[in-house]
Amino acid sequence: MQNAETIEQAAEYVRIVLPLMIKNRVAPTPLNYAIWYEYVTGRNRELKEEVDRIVGSALEFSEDISSEIYQRYLAQEDAANLTEIREGLRKIFTDLLDYVMRAGTQTAGFGNVLETYSMKLMDSLDVEEIRKIVQDVLSETRIMKDTSDELKQRLEETTSELGELKKEFERVRRESVTDPLTGISNRKAFDDFMRSASFDAAANDTPLSLLLIDIDFFKKVNDTYGHLVGDEVLRMTAYTIKQCVRGADMVARYGGEEFAVVFPSTPLKGAVAGAENIRSRFETQRFKRKATGEAIGKITVSIGVSEYRNGESLSDCIQRADEALYRAKQEGRNRVSASQ
Ligand code: GH3
Ligand code: MG
Ligand code: MG
Repeated sequence: MQNAETIEQAAEYVRIVLPLMIKNRVAPTPLNYAIWYEYVTGRNRELKEEVDRIVGSALEFSEDISSEIYQRYLAQEDAANLTEIREGLRKIFTDLLDYVMRAGTQTAGFGNVLETYSMKLMDSLDVEEIRKIVQDVLSETRIMKDTSDELKQRLEETTSELGELKKEFERVRRESVTDPLTGISNRKAFDDFMRSASFDAAANDTPLSLLLIDIDFFKKVNDTYGHLVGDEVLRMTAYTIKQCVRGADMVARYGGEEFAVVFPSTPLKGAVAGAENIRSRFETQRFKRKATGEAIGKITVSIGVSEYRNGESLSDCIQRADEALYRAKQEGRNRVSASQ
């Protein structure tokens, strides 16, 4: 994306996408954003027809549908797409910069800010990084608004434009790290957290431990009470685990009925104690259906624990916890096993 005309256009597309998604009640997920950006550009005729067909029908723009469209028409082009969105934002910033420059020395500091962010947008960034930039420029713009009458009108427009974008990027970010069923962190958030926690552990020479928790005989819950009750048990499981850990610890849904807990600054012994606390909480707790009060009875969990070894790969550390979990199952379930 080199020439000025296309960058100008990208800025326009960035402005159009959100209102259109909102109007069509499309959930603001990263996939949908990519699909609707492509839709707005109009350059992918098949994708456009497919989206029009769905919008025109009674079909909901569900996760399955958007994932299908994404796989079929866009999976190859995602990187190029994000580049365009970045370029669009840069254009919005540089337009604003033009106004600021013309307004004189009083606004020079703000001009520098815009220039810096505009440069940053030249690097390849992910959704989270772009969200931060929008947020920073927005707060700078708000400060600026008080200082120059001449700029007021223009800045007000930009503020509301950026405000919408900021909200949107925040929503997209939240959704991209949240498990929709339980509301806790998803696998991606877990991976990110583990990566940075392992850097910290190595840099500060502090321990770091991991739990993998698997519900015992969960299939039986589904078979006896149905999937909806199964889902409810998953939500209550997430809640129960959360209640057992502190703020610095992270709880994530690792897979179907498996959860992970990361304990920063905690050696194996402390993590085993934490695991035992979680295990016994489940053992003594009785689950009830929220709506009807119907008893579901005792749910137990098996837990594998490992401590991160400096220099080992994260997947090795996870695998050791998984092997310990397997042993806990073999040894009769409702127990904690540690990787020595
Ligand atoms: P084990 O004690 O060996 O762990 O037995 P299990 O029955 O828990 O083992 P298994 O891993 O075979 O079964 C897991 C089940 O979890 C199978 C799958 O249908 C169910 N499951 C996975 N994700 C979900 C979900 O999102 N909702 C519901 N209701 N069930 C799920
Ligand atoms: Mg399992
Ligand atoms: Mg299980």
